[in-house]
Amino acid sequence: MASITAAGTPVPERVAVVGAGMVGLSTAWFLQERGVEVVVLDREGVAAGSSWGNAGWLTPGIATPLPEPAVLKYGIRAVLSPSSPVYVPPSANPSFLKFVTGFTAHSTMKAWKKAMGALVPVNDLSLESFDLLQAGGVRAETREAKSFLASYRTAQERTTLLEEIEHIHAAGQSIEFEALTGDQARAIEPSLSDEIGAAILLKGQRFIDPGSYVHALADSVRARGGKILTGATVSDIRDTGRGVVVTTAEGAVEEFDAAVLATGAWLGKLARRFGVRNVVQAGRGYSFSVAIDHVPNGPVYFPAQRVACTPIGDRLRVAGMMEFRKPEAALDQRRIRAIAEAARPLLRGADLDARQDEWVGSRPCTVDGLPLIGATRSPRVYAAGGHGMWGITLGPVTGRLLAETMVTGKQVEQLRPFDPMR
Ligand SMILES: Cc1cc2nc3c(=O)[nH]c(=O)nc-3n(C[C@H](O)[C@H](O)[C@H](O)COP(=O)(O)OP(=O)(O)OC[C@H]3O[C@@H](n4cnc5c(N)ncnc54)[C@H](O)[C@@H]3O)c2cc1C
Repeated sequence: MASITAAGTPVPERVAVVGAGMVGLSTAWFLQERGVEVVVLDREGVAAGSSWGNAGWLTPGIATPLPEPAVLKYGIRAVLSPSSPVYVPPSANPSFLKFVTGFTAHSTMKAWKKAMGALVPVNDLSLESFDLLQAGGVRAETREAKSFLASYRTAQERTTLLEEIEHIHAAGQSIEFEALTGDQARAIEPSLSDEIGAAILLKGQRFIDPGSYVHALADSVRARGGKILTGATVSDIRDTGRGVVVTTAEGAVEEFDAAVLATGAWLGKLARRFGVRNVVQAGRGYSFSVAIDHVPNGPVYFPAQRVACTPIGDRLRVAGMMEFRKPEAALDQRRIRAIAEAARPLLRGADLDARQDEWVGSRPCTVDGLPLIGATRSPRVYAAGGHGMWGITLGPVTGRLLAETMVTGKQVEQLRPFDPMR
């Protein structure tokens, strides 16, 4: 007989996790840690969504809510040009308009402070959650970001991030930094061009190669007895009152004690049926990799251009853009070129014309910039997603705290602000 949680419900013994990205696999792993048997279903495969070509930054010090007063400024500029760092298509569907209205309403300093206050406690647990994965046998390392440089043409441009860091500190998030001249930055990171005139060295952060990390996590889930079913598109989930029946478009029907929806930018599709009204909108980003004479020792960030660079193996991944379109839309070459042109004058020795691994992926964005983590209207169906810009940094801590919630039946305090039914 199953044991009973603090909420009076049976402890789930067998759970279906829908989505094999960073969030779904982390949840599966931490459920296994608590003795739960897991089956992960993905319609494509491991890291098929946004968990592959992202920038791989593990940067709790700057994991802030996306809606902030400055975003509105970019939004307006964006409508005018497909090459600006944020792109909003001129025609939009009702769900997108709902998203924009909610997002705009949250783009105030007051809302930012509230959301930041909610993120600090999970940011603080994020890196140690990666350490737990490694100690538990996940064969992938996180790397210290030794030269994490936010780099600018002028000291004037830098004031925006310096002010943001003040707000981050005021919200209780620790982040150590040092303001540098262009020459000081180049002495640390020779791949910065002479156009860089000012920088901020951010300390204590890390990075990974996200694709290979998520595959290592999947290997560990399998090695611990979990099943990962690929080519399994979940089309329906039904709460029977005793468990959940999961149906796939490919014709499989199976019963579990509970299900976790970790479907990234597609979260709304299945979660809406369980009363989750929060819109999850795809904020599409692009990346590619290039050869560079000196591979940096850590991420290099050009905030004014919204371009994020990360060393991945012996190449540099260059990522950017926030494009509000359907997650299924085709890769738009204009965005790739816009990122390359924005980075060209700022990097030294990078071959931006011989690009490889051109990629587009969808950040799962919510109107208040906070993820959706916890039970839905059904006590057996949980949401885990909507992390926007920070699903890699926050994936493991999400899985860790959600597994605790599911197995103990107790409200985990850090997850309270992320209630999917808010
Ligand atoms: C350009 C770019 C740069 C980024 N950089 C960073 C960064 O540096 N640091 C950071 O923390 N975050 C970053 N992010 C954000 C991060 O990539 C996402 O927040 C994170 O990957 C979300 O993970 P997920 O597991 O929720 O979703 P996903 O990785 O998208 O996984 C969802 C999975 O669900 C599957 N799926 C969907 N529907 C179904 C269904 N019906 N049945 C079965 N399977 C289904 C999909 O195939 C997919 O594999 C970046 C994003 C982009 C686009």
